Amino acid sequence: MHIGFQRSGGRGEYEVVGSHTGYTAIGLEGWSFHLRWPDGIVRDTDLVLEPADSGKPRLRSLRAQPFQIGRQVASMLMLPDPRREYAETSRGLPVARHKGYVLSRLGFGPDTEFTGFNDVVTIDPTFVDLDNLTDKTTIGVVHRWRRVEAVYAAMDSLPDNVRSIVSQHRNFMASGDPINTTLPGIVLSLERALVSAVPAWVAETDPLPALEHLLGIKLQTGPSLPPPDEIGEEEPVVSARSAHEYRLAKIRGASGRKFSSSIRAAYGNRCAFCGGVYGGVPAVRSGVDAAHILAWSKYDLDVVPNGISLCKLHHWAFDAALLVPAYEGTACTLRFTELATENFAPDTLAKLGVHQFVVPDEWLPADRSLWPSKKYLERLYADLAIEFAA
Ligand SMILES: [Zn+2]
Repeated sequence: MHIGFQRSGGRGEYEVVGSHTGYTAIGLEGWSFHLRWPDGIVRDTDLVLEPADSGKPRLRSLRAQPFQIGRQVASMLMLPDPRREYAETSRGLPVARHKGYVLSRLGFGPDTEFTGFNDVVTIDPTFVDLDNLTDKTTIGVVHRWRRVEAVYAAMDSLPDNVRSIVSQHRNFMASGDPINTTLPGIVLSLERALVSAVPAWVAETDPLPALEHLLGIKLQTGPSLPPPDEIGEEEPVVSARSAHEYRLAKIRGASGRKFSSSIRAAYGNRCAFCGGVYGGVPAVRSGVDAAHILAWSKYDLDVVPNGISLCKLHHWAFDAALLVPAYEGTACTLRFTELATENFAPDTLAKLGVHQFVVPDEWLPADRSLWPSKKYLERLYADLAIEFAA
C-alpha cells in the first residue's frame, strides 16, 4: 500500500493505492492518517481519506489551510518544497528543486498499523518517489533521515547563519508538533543561506548534500533503501532496486528489530487465539500479523508486550473489539464482548472461538514477560468502554 499522487485535473491530489494486511483504500474511507517518523515520534497529518466525486477515495486535509502529505514529508526530509501541479514541474536532473517536482509516492512499510477502534492508519514510511517531467528518483526514508540527523549532530561547525536555520529544523522536529508550513519555510531559508555558503551548489536544489559538503561528512556506502521484504510485493520496481542495492552491498535483507518480526519470532508465527502456525515458510508470505494492543498513535509503545501475534481473521476480531484476551488470574483467556454477542450469530462466533477459552501457554511466548501486558489490555478496555459477554 502507498499514498500516490494523482496527476489528472489541475492540482494534484493524493490517494491511497493497493492493500496492506487485508485493508484496501475503500475500507479506509473516513480514516485519519498519522505518520510514525524514524525519530520515534507519531505525528497527526490532519489528513482524512474521503470519497471523491468519482468514487475514488482521496486524502483531504482537515485544516483551514490544507497542507498536503507531499509538502509535509519533503520538509521533514529537508527536501525542497514540492509543487501540487505536475504539469509545472521541471525537466531533468536534479529532480528535487524548489517547486520543480512532485512527491509522487510514499510507501507503507510492514509496521504500518491499522487501528479500527478509532479509525487511524499509522504509516511506517519506507520510501518516497520524487518526479518531474523527465526524471524520477526514489529515496529511502530511514536512510535520508539518518543523514539529516548526522547533520544535526555536526551542525556546530556550520557557518552561523546556516547553523541557526538547521537548528530551527531540528527544534521543530524535536517538538513533535504536527508539520505545518513553518517547516518548508525553514528549508527554503536554508536553501537561500547555502547560496553564499557553498558557491558550487546549485541554488534551490536539495540542501542536504551542500550541508554534508560543508561539514565534510562522507556518505557511507551501502543500501539507501529499506530491504526488499519491508517494501513489499506491491512495489516491484522499488523492491527490485532495493534487492540490487543489497546484493551489491552483500547485506541480507533482514529487518532485524522491527516490531512485526519481533512479535512473529516471540510467538513462532502462531496465532495466539487459534493456535494456527501460519508462517515461517520461506516461500510463503506470513499469514500472522503483529497486532498492537495500544495504538502507536496514542501511546508509542513499540515493544513485544504491547503486541500479540494473530492470524488475519483473529486480527480483525481483536481490532473490531469482538474477541479479546483478558487475564483470569495468571491465565490468558479469550472473551467475547457484548458487541460480538449482540450483533453476530452464535454459529458465526463459534467459528471465531470459545468464550473464556484458556490460551495454552505454548501458544504464547516462552518468556512470560513477553506475554500481552495485563496493564495495557486493561487500559485498552477502559479506553474503549468494552463490556465482556456474560
Ligand atoms: Zn487465529
